Amino acid sequence: MVQYQHSKTCRLCGSEELNKVAENLHDPQESVQDTFDVLACTKCGFHFTDPMILNKDLGFLYEGNYFGIDNKLSFFENLYRFDQYRYDFGIYSKYFSKNMTMLDYGCGNGSRVEYLRQKGFRATGIDEFDMITTDLDKSLYVIKNPIDFFPEQKYDVVFMYHVLEHLREFDAQINHIKTNILKKGGYLIIQVPNVDCWQFKKYPQNDNLYEVPRHFWHFNKRSIKFMMEERGFITKGQNCKNSILHPSTILSSVFKFNIRQEWAKPNPNKWLIHAKFGLFCLLSIPILFWENLRDDSPILNCIFENK
Ligand SMILES: [Zn+2]
Repeated sequence: MVQYQHSKTCRLCGSEELNKVAENLHDPQESVQDTFDVLACTKCGFHFTDPMILNKDLGFLYEGNYFGIDNKLSFFENLYRFDQYRYDFGIYSKYFSKNMTMLDYGCGNGSRVEYLRQKGFRATGIDEFDMITTDLDKSLYVIKNPIDFFPEQKYDVVFMYHVLEHLREFDAQINHIKTNILKKGGYLIIQVPNVDCWQFKKYPQNDNLYEVPRHFWHFNKRSIKFMMEERGFITKGQNCKNSILHPSTILSSVFKFNIRQEWAKPNPNKWLIHAKFGLFCLLSIPILFWENLRDDSPILNCIFENK
């Protein structure tokens, strides 16, 4: 049974000045049947899903095909992921040097770690769910509770790609990273969805954008800066740009194409899904190009230094 808690105050700054920006949203993965609102704080800009799920174990939200069929990735998805890694790496690569150690916090199947190793970095990853399909040693990288992860040597760079919005206990985890995982002067690189993007403003009722209730929090430049600076980090850079080979959420919504649901169907027509995915990537190029020009893509990239 799913347990919920509503909030009348901002879950980041405690302010009571809240606006409802979306209502009665459904879980696009259909893990739960209830509906959710998104509340925005007028004081700090933080957005959060309301109500919040209270269950201790959140594994039920990630069952089934959340990470692709049988949690394995198709050839095309791997191709697209590689392009995404290359793009993400380039954004803040001027901060990296060859001898740095890197940790992918919430590494999923481990393929980004492989990418970083190919680039010549000493990179590892951890994840609380066992999804490793790469050569990473599961006994080292699957850690049920990240709070229990105390590396012998702290890292120069920690990456959190689409992780922070999933962390209900974000305070404890950010503090743990700051104190026990990341070196002083090291960099924390965070990528999350950007609620200030035109897509969220124009189509707030699109279930695929807010991805409730898996996303507890929804960020913009202002709220994530406030969150991290309150917790002892220095903001070094922020932008809202994304690789132009990323299939745009807005197109998938217009054409009602959800790749995870397509894969989940009995006897999915793999060839057709690949073709649709490829077509969406191509059609998305002009949209993403225009979004990047305006620094207004649904992706928010940030780099913070550990003070
Ligand atoms: Zn607030």
